[in-house]
Amino acid sequence: MKGNVELIIDGKRLDGRKPLEMREVEMKVNVVRNADGSAYVRFGKTIAIAAVYGPTILLPKHLQEDKLLVKVRYSMLPFSVDERKSPGHDRRSIELSKVIKNALAPAIMLDEYPRAVLKVYVEIIQADGSTRVTGTNAASLALAMAGVPMKDLVTACSVGKINDTIVLDLNGIEDNNSQADMAFAMMPSKNRVTLWQMDGQLTKEEIKKMIKIASDACKKLYDMQKKAIRGAFK
Ligand code: UDP
Repeated sequence: MKGNVELIIDGKRLDGRKPLEMREVEMKVNVVRNADGSAYVRFGKTIAIAAVYGPTILLPKHLQEDKLLVKVRYSMLPFSVDERKSPGHDRRSIELSKVIKNALAPAIMLDEYPRAVLKVYVEIIQADGSTRVTGTNAASLALAMAGVPMKDLVTACSVGKINDTIVLDLNGIEDNNSQADMAFAMMPSKNRVTLWQMDGQLTKEEIKKMIKIASDACKKLYDMQKKAIRGAFK
């Protein structure tokens, strides 16, 4: 049963982290030569690569809208998880593609590109929990590198409750055995939340606490994202 696995021993998580400690985070941009913008983001053993193509004119014409159409495709590579994952789109990847798209769209100046399409690919190379937020961070960096006009970067992280303790940045075993978990994304400079998904049972106080923890963590990740972008223009 969820919540019964011992995930915190003597105040430390199984990977040695304190409850509110993030895994090691790495961010790189311009990692895919043929994309208009791309990025690599690693949270511990979870690795996402995002590549952006466009905006380009959307064809056939009858699909065109008076604003930019953003298409996101999230997928987990067959070797990204312990048990080989069959390639191709499944229910989960369709859902996560939509979740990531909805997290990114509020930041994109969609009206600037009527009749156009923007394609965003999020590939999970290695999965150990929190892939949707890792992928969102990578996609947001890739959009910026593609020169897509944005109101702000989108920064994301996960928070959860394991063994009655609130923790930041869930890894795979924590995610699968959590009492609750939350995926969170925001535009940090606007203080605007763009993704908030929750699973499990939490009190109002716990939810408030978790949102505060997530938004503080996002502000730190935001600085890392900006540093990665600046690094590319040095
Ligand atoms: N996972 C897996 N195989 C799958 C789907 C997920 O091993 O087919 C693992 C993977 O480590 C993933 C975690 O379960 O990160 C949690 O997946 P979830 O659907 O909750 O989304 P995520 O936390 O990755 O955004």
